[in-house]
Amino acid sequence: MSLKCKLGLHSWDGCKCSDCGKLHDVQHDWSKDCEKCSKCGKTRENHHDWDECYCSRCGKKKDHSLYVKEGELLCYNCKKLFKDELDYFDYLKYIEDINPRKYADKKSNDEINSLLDKITTASLFEELLLNTESNQVRARSIREIKNQDILLKFILSEPKPHQYYSDYYSIFTTFQSSDLLNYVFKYLDKVELLEILAKEHSSDDVRKDTMRHIEDVLNKNLIKQIETGQIKDQIALKDIYLNACEGDKKLRHHAIENINDQSILKEIYEKIASMSEYCKTTRNFVNDLLGDAGNIKPIIYKIKDDNLLEKIARDAAPKSYFGVMKKDYENLMRWSVARIKSQNILLKIIQEDDQITNSDLKETAFYSIKDKEVLKKLWKPDDKVFGSIHVAALLEYNSYILEKALNGSTEAVGCIKSEEDLAKVAIEGKGIGYMKAGSEKFYSDDDEDFNSKYVEGVQDKALKRIYDPALLEKVVNESKDRRIQEIAAKRLNIYKK
Ligand SMILES: [Zn+2]
Ligand SMILES: [Zn+2]
Ligand SMILES: [Zn+2]
Ligand SMILES: [Zn+2]
Repeated sequence: MSLKCKLGLHSWDGCKCSDCGKLHDVQHDWSKDCEKCSKCGKTRENHHDWDECYCSRCGKKKDHSLYVKEGELLCYNCKKLFKDELDYFDYLKYIEDINPRKYADKKSNDEINSLLDKITTASLFEELLLNTESNQVRARSIREIKNQDILLKFILSEPKPHQYYSDYYSIFTTFQSSDLLNYVFKYLDKVELLEILAKEHSSDDVRKDTMRHIEDVLNKNLIKQIETGQIKDQIALKDIYLNACEGDKKLRHHAIENINDQSILKEIYEKIASMSEYCKTTRNFVNDLLGDAGNIKPIIYKIKDDNLLEKIARDAAPKSYFGVMKKDYENLMRWSVARIKSQNILLKIIQEDDQITNSDLKETAFYSIKDKEVLKKLWKPDDKVFGSIHVAALLEYNSYILEKALNGSTEAVGCIKSEEDLAKVAIEGKGIGYMKAGSEKFYSDDDEDFNSKYVEGVQDKALKRIYDPALLEKVVNESKDRRIQEIAAKRLNIYKK
């Protein structure tokens, strides 16, 4: 210390002696900061002169009041615009969803997304996911993250205390939590990582959801392997089909689509048919066989073995079904029978004793026969089934059809091929048209009005199919029914030209 200073004669430079460094509490330097002396470090309060975010005296800056407007980040007070990715990051890191149970309201939701759109550095999204409280920012970050380890770390880091609740609920067990977890699962599909989660997460719900997700991922992988032809082995495909439980329609579909081995298809059918009635319904047994509104292609199309088709038909329509068969079983029976090519199998079913064989099955088999020689053998005029108009038409038994039509069968009229026969029916057929009950006295020249109240008989139906003017004229002349004569005359007018 200098002598002068020892004597108390300091060389004051403002508040500080330039020789010994002694301080006194006068002449501080507030020029660089109105509240802190740049020489001695003394502080005081409330001395800035704020103009927006800056002090007009010392130039010191306050924290800006940041907000987003039309996709830009700016200060509410000084209007400064922030355009750096890190500024966006700093802002987003601390925002909170307006209602923690919901995302922010629609408007700020969009504004925040517009900032998120401007971030291009992947690591910033990783930071955001792990550090922000906003579910909106988290959800968006999840989408951008390529490294699945980060996603795992994120889920494992929950639960943490929720800032709005005193309890320690994980976000995954509250509110849209499950949305967020499912959202993560859209991007987290490495089975080895999911297994860690299924083992280590502290929430039962998250562990259970993860197990389910692992199943989904494994199924998706299997589907991919089937689609790309990596799994072709018929037995492997059979096992996949039989093991895929109720929810895995897609997997079942892909498996069955690639099975062509008839004996494997037979095994599959026998396996599912042997299950209890309860299992059949829960596993959509009939749906799988018949297909499902375009989603699942029917197994039945894959089966080419007539004996198996016969077995399916008989299983679906056992004699013990009294009364009406269930609709889906009836469909299954009809589809199976329709696909049987062997006329002998069909014939065998038809000729079985009524006591043994379901009558619907017999009738379906009968209508499936295409071989005329077989049909001729079965032909029994006037039997409801064996002598039906349908069979007569197949066998071209025209005089039989004409006779039925003349006796009033409108179905038979539809099967007549010769216009001359049609003319006979138009003139002599039993069963003239009649007005519906309640409109007997009503007659109208307006065709449309009349037709809506008129029930056609065989005469009308036959007449409508005649185009030959000579035959129409014959009807005009020979019919004894005024209405028929009129219609015939009208048609004659049209077709004469
Ligand atoms: Zn001094
Ligand atoms: Zn000072
Ligand atoms: Zn100041
Ligand atoms: Zn500002």
